[in-house]
Amino acid sequence: MTQGFSTRALHAGAAPDPVTGSRAQPIHQTTSFVFKDADHAAKLFALQEFGDIYTRIGNPTVSALEARIADLEGGTMGLGVGSGHAAQLLAFHVLMEPGTKIVAAKQLYGGSINQLSHAFKKFGWAVEFVDVNDLAAVEAAMDESVRVVFTESLANPGGIVTDMAAIADIAHRHGVPYMVDNTMASPYLCQPLSHGADIVVHSLTKFIGGHGNSIGGIIIDGGKFDWKANAAKFPTLTTPQSYYNDLVFAEGFGALPLGPDGAEVDIAFAIAARAFSLRDLGPALSPFNAFMIMTGCETLPLRMDKHCHNANAVAEYLSGHDAVSWVRYAGLPGDSHHALAQKYCPKGAGAVFTFGLKGGHAAGVKLVESVTLFSHLANIGDTKSLIIHPSSTTHSQLTDDQKTQAGAAPDTVRVSVGIEDAADIIADLDQALASL
Ligand SMILES: *Cc1c(COP(=O)(O)O)cnc(C)c1O
Repeated sequence: MTQGFSTRALHAGAAPDPVTGSRAQPIHQTTSFVFKDADHAAKLFALQEFGDIYTRIGNPTVSALEARIADLEGGTMGLGVGSGHAAQLLAFHVLMEPGTKIVAAKQLYGGSINQLSHAFKKFGWAVEFVDVNDLAAVEAAMDESVRVVFTESLANPGGIVTDMAAIADIAHRHGVPYMVDNTMASPYLCQPLSHGADIVVHSLTKFIGGHGNSIGGIIIDGGKFDWKANAAKFPTLTTPQSYYNDLVFAEGFGALPLGPDGAEVDIAFAIAARAFSLRDLGPALSPFNAFMIMTGCETLPLRMDKHCHNANAVAEYLSGHDAVSWVRYAGLPGDSHHALAQKYCPKGAGAVFTFGLKGGHAAGVKLVESVTLFSHLANIGDTKSLIIHPSSTTHSQLTDDQKTQAGAAPDTVRVSVGIEDAADIIADLDQALASL
């Protein structure tokens, strides 16, 4: 029987150290690893044997984290990297060629919108943004140049739940994988691979690390997409690679006996992301950060339950406040995304959401200056409660119209509700709202 989520959040991917007996995951703070002999070295370099060579490409502390998150997401293999953005970059790097296109949700983390629309342009990767609530628009964007569909599960700036099964269907009918950024939900609230996604990426910086102290990211290979059936689209995976003795990754790593009871699993995508993209682009995760993030992961279920409980209480409180014109939290029964939240995130709709102030822009500025328990900063997924007024910060360069389109209208405030006592969080908002 598969163990429960809380057990696996503590134990998956790591056992007491066989040499020293160390119970906590050791931090392997080293750049490189000594080969046993010349034959061992040759096999590692040719990918004929798995093992550590150099910490840019792999490290035992990072591997333990990779195995844990892959287990929690139900994937075949993980690749830990230096940040959430690095995870996205490397995952796209395996799939994209110059002149190909990403179909992405309009409702993405602001940094992802920048990455896809500006930085990726220099690689010749096109992007078409579509409204994730409009399945016909997703379908209409699917032309021959598309290589991947990319959305979040719970979408920024909060309150939107993506209909992942429907979007997976569209991607698969067009012969491309569906990649989901599961940062806002975490694998405790939602596992996109079980709803048809093929690849999951995370910013480990947020709820998984959970304590606002370490930047990190991860790619999880779902192991189900049939690369060979769509071979012309994905040459990195389906053509001989001269650097690795003409190995074809989808063949060499498409069915290895690494699953439970020796079941064959497909890890071609994860291996390509490591052996080409991480090796050559270089954004490795530090072993120390991997250790911090694994420690955070141990309490992920406890924290997410408390985050969701508090977010519900805060959303209900705000819904009844005179200074508040609207609250967009999919956990509220009247919310337009409530049914999707019940389908995809039955344990809770996360802890990040937005609300509107009747006093508009000026009230938003005053509110973030009047809170004392909340921290005014640009992050989410900390144990501590966080608040931001996007219109005067992250989205300040945009016109009012563009702000509204991005879900960051002048009246909008975003909170990431922490795990303090709910009464104290509400009391802080109450005194700050009274000052408007
Ligand atoms: C923060 C965040 C990212 C980027 O992650 P970094 O670790 O900051 O690079 C990507 N997606 C979402 C949803 C995020 O919240």
